[in-house]
Amino acid sequence: MIVDLPPLREVIARYGLKAEKSLGQNFLLDGQLLDRIAAIPGDLRDKPVYEVGPGPGGLTRALLKAGALVTVVERDRRCIPALRELEAIFSGRLRIVEGDALAVPLADVLPEGGAIISNLPYNVGSALLVQWLTERNWPPRWSSLTLMFQREVADRIVAEAGTDAFGRLSVLAQWRCHARIALPVHRSAFTPPPKVMSAVVHVTPSNQPDGVDIKGLEAITAAAFGQRRKMLRQSLKPLPHALVALEATGIAPDRRPETLSIDEFIALARAYCCLTGSVTTGLG
Ligand code: SAM
Repeated sequence: MIVDLPPLREVIARYGLKAEKSLGQNFLLDGQLLDRIAAIPGDLRDKPVYEVGPGPGGLTRALLKAGALVTVVERDRRCIPALRELEAIFSGRLRIVEGDALAVPLADVLPEGGAIISNLPYNVGSALLVQWLTERNWPPRWSSLTLMFQREVADRIVAEAGTDAFGRLSVLAQWRCHARIALPVHRSAFTPPPKVMSAVVHVTPSNQPDGVDIKGLEAITAAAFGQRRKMLRQSLKPLPHALVALEATGIAPDRRPETLSIDEFIALARAYCCLTGSVTTGLG
């Protein structure tokens, strides 16, 4: 859709949207970059999209231009009048919710099968990602996540077993999803520029392994990585049934958590779920 929109810098000046550090505000103003981010999940024509933290609306514009039906949740009420301008131009295609994304139930802002796309505020980004990755029902209501993170967090999400970056976030992101870095983004692309580099991560759901539920997997990963430097025989000790599960899988108890593959975590969680009775069928 071709529309004539005022430059984002003008919108920011007109509404006095000076970036607030406490709200994780680092704005993207480069229209080409924003269009590239909006293109990552594929064709968005008439697709429902949920965007956290639209700010002055740079990414929101790109999503609307790509034909998406967008719902945004923004905590900073200063941004709402600027977003109302977009709402008027893209009549019926933008819904604006003022509030804290951490407190908004996903079902209220995203119809089944919609995509989540956001330049996330760094201070709540990981917490939101964990909420979306740990949905009990699988496949989840979202068809994909396209999310900007600080590069270090992005690296942890896609990390391979055996690397320093591999941890709880990697397991949660990879045991029933495919996660990749779709676009590295230089710090200078943001206004104001943050201290560190960023990257857009693209996550799509895959099948949930049989016999494992998310609560069991979370319990195992939290215990294992809670004491990262320790061997599993130590770190899993406080979690009832976890050592018996470890023995049942044949994984050596002197290994450290970051050396286990995703498949080994799944096997361990499956044995744990079986022992604790949290899963009785193959369905999550
Ligand atoms: N989407 C804009 C862009 O790409 O230029 C702004 C991105 S900025 C990194 C993060 C945005 O999230 C800010 O507009 C900030 O006010 C908003 N925000 C921060 N915490 C939030 C929360 N808990 N819920 C909803 N929005 C939040």
